[in-house]
Amino acid sequence: MSTISVIGCGYLGAVHAAAMASLGHRVFGVDVDERKIAALSEARAPFFEPGLEELLASAQSDDGTPARLTFTTDIADAAEATVHFVCVGTPQRRGEFAADLTYVDAAVESLLPVLKAGDLVVGKSTVPVGTAERLAEIIRPTGAELAWNPEFLREGHAVDDTITPDRLVYGVPGGEAGEQATAALDEVYRTTLDAGTPRLVADYATAELVKTAANSFLATKISFINAMAELCEASGADVTLLADAIGMDDRIGRKFLNAGLGFGGGCLPKDIRAFMARAGELGADQAVAFLREIDSINMRRRVRMVDLAREVVNGSFIGKNITVLGAAFKPDSDDVRDSPALGVAGLINLQGGTVTVTDPEATDNARRLFPDLGYEADLETALRGADAVLLLTEWKQYRELHPEEVGELVRGRAIVDGRNVLDPAEWRAAGWTYRALGRP
Ligand code: NAD
Repeated sequence: MSTISVIGCGYLGAVHAAAMASLGHRVFGVDVDERKIAALSEARAPFFEPGLEELLASAQSDDGTPARLTFTTDIADAAEATVHFVCVGTPQRRGEFAADLTYVDAAVESLLPVLKAGDLVVGKSTVPVGTAERLAEIIRPTGAELAWNPEFLREGHAVDDTITPDRLVYGVPGGEAGEQATAALDEVYRTTLDAGTPRLVADYATAELVKTAANSFLATKISFINAMAELCEASGADVTLLADAIGMDDRIGRKFLNAGLGFGGGCLPKDIRAFMARAGELGADQAVAFLREIDSINMRRRVRMVDLAREVVNGSFIGKNITVLGAAFKPDSDDVRDSPALGVAGLINLQGGTVTVTDPEATDNARRLFPDLGYEADLETALRGADAVLLLTEWKQYRELHPEEVGELVRGRAIVDGRNVLDPAEWRAAGWTYRALGRP
């Protein structure tokens, strides 16, 4: 059993803290956000993530066993820990592509007074290559060491992805310090490793690049199929059939080949931009120049979606009720950072449409970001009187909508499927105008 601190309890850190406690470790979760810490201390998840509240409750149980999980705003409480995970945000810098590292720097700075010789600081935040080397120099005078252990969890599956990830990557220093860091991380991940999870031990730079490269590849796969969707639109072909056919080649694979409104969220967009910025600093900008095109293809899908929506309401949004299904950047999350759905909703609002956004979990977060849009938590109410329905986040309840039942609520039977998840034949048979990205 290890004693662990987790600095930064957002989408990544709160799940990591709860998951580590569920594996039997003693965990102190630290955040500067008092509201988040208050919620977590009462075993309430400050955001929607399936399974998180159950995990929080089990680790903070009042059944007489000592709590394994404590949340605090006081970094001094982390002094008891010997392994300190840094899980704070690395957003895009305003007006630049580069990552803003002020939170990572502040978190490390705040840890310095509590670090003891032999402690291990473990970076999990996604950072530009070279960050770990720089931070290691700051940490070493305390006698502690640094490892970088990038995180690959997917929001909506974060609990399982943390406990049983596809792989563990450790970026460690050379020599004995690296061996000690590896041993300390093996102790933390003992259960996961025993379950057969592969682990790769690398230097700092490789570990940092693994994360950025993985996100760049995923973004490329999505934008590749969306580029094919543009060609399908120009030629009358069907991108969903095309994806099925090329995906049957196991060198290509069908996963992440769902054409649609593209990617968003708090990771992929800012991570590929930060990668371009860092590559430029390293004099290797040509190597990832293609990511600019990946980003552009992705953003063009939002504009195309607005065009399709305008077409189904006869060329103008003015005086039209547009119901947007989905506000989160993906289903099973309430995260609205760079949400494609909200981007589209905002553009239609600016063009004179009366937009009503609904989402099972994310309307409160969306309202804070885009206060001008209309919101309705109840799906039936949101659909009532719509001239067009746009499916922009593929929550299960939207994929399962029944064309006849929805048809009874709306004013005009027009739907644009931004995620290619509905059956066009079924909707058309019920008298709907059905349009989708990349399909005739
Ligand atoms: P987030 O914004 O949800 O959480 C960051 C948290 O850090 C916030 O609660 C904030 O209050 C806290 N914080 C900021 N400065 C602090 C400080 N000095 N001390 C203590 N707490 C501090 O962000 P996130 O989505 O959890 O992402 C965190 C990092 O993990 C980012 O680098 C991100 O790229 C990476 N990541 C995220 C995901 C994901 O799916 N969300 C997946 C893999 C990697």
